[in-house]
Amino acid sequence: MTIIEPETAIVDPARGLAIIDVDEVIALFIQGFDRFLQPHGYEFRLLSFGLFDNVFAHGAETPAEKDKSRALFDRFFSHGCGEIDPAPGAVAGLASLADMAQVVILTNAPETARELRGDWLKRHGMDYPMIINQGPKGPAVKTLAGRVEGPVLFVDDLISNLDSVAQDAPRVTRVQMVADPKLRTMAPASRRHRRIDDWPSLVRLAEQEVFA
Ligand SMILES: [Mg+2]
Repeated sequence: MTIIEPETAIVDPARGLAIIDVDEVIALFIQGFDRFLQPHGYEFRLLSFGLFDNVFAHGAETPAEKDKSRALFDRFFSHGCGEIDPAPGAVAGLASLADMAQVVILTNAPETARELRGDWLKRHGMDYPMIINQGPKGPAVKTLAGRVEGPVLFVDDLISNLDSVAQDAPRVTRVQMVADPKLRTMAPASRRHRRIDDWPSLVRLAEQEVFA
């Protein structure tokens, strides 16, 4: 696994490019985070489409303090994110995309997650180049898309990232995907972006419209 940056990623300018998020696109983040929290005496209750408001100590009626939730979140990325499950259909779906285009993984995660996350991708047969990003994804997607002439697909669960890409790299086809079936029902959608929550349908779109 070579760790890369958008400026130096080796991309074939003549091919298409699929830029794919990790958490809640190819990985079941909230399930994995909850499993990580349990032995620490905490749990993730899916009450809203949020992160820090949903961390509770076992038996507690109010969410954990933000600082505590943040610390557990950071520890998950530095120690626990290698134990997360791939989303259903993601491994096969990425392999299909890789037949049509170059695949680059673009994940928002702390630097401390590089090793574990890279190893995780490899272990699950998703050994594609991985870029670790912080903040809105538009700038990284713009840089990557600017280096290829072919079509570009971007998939993420968060509207903020999709909006950022719409603004910075408007030629890119954007798809919102929310892999977890429960989270899906509460995840806001936006008329600005396509919404496809399952991998076979995403692959169909890629085949028939994006990389056709
Ligand atoms: Mg995500």
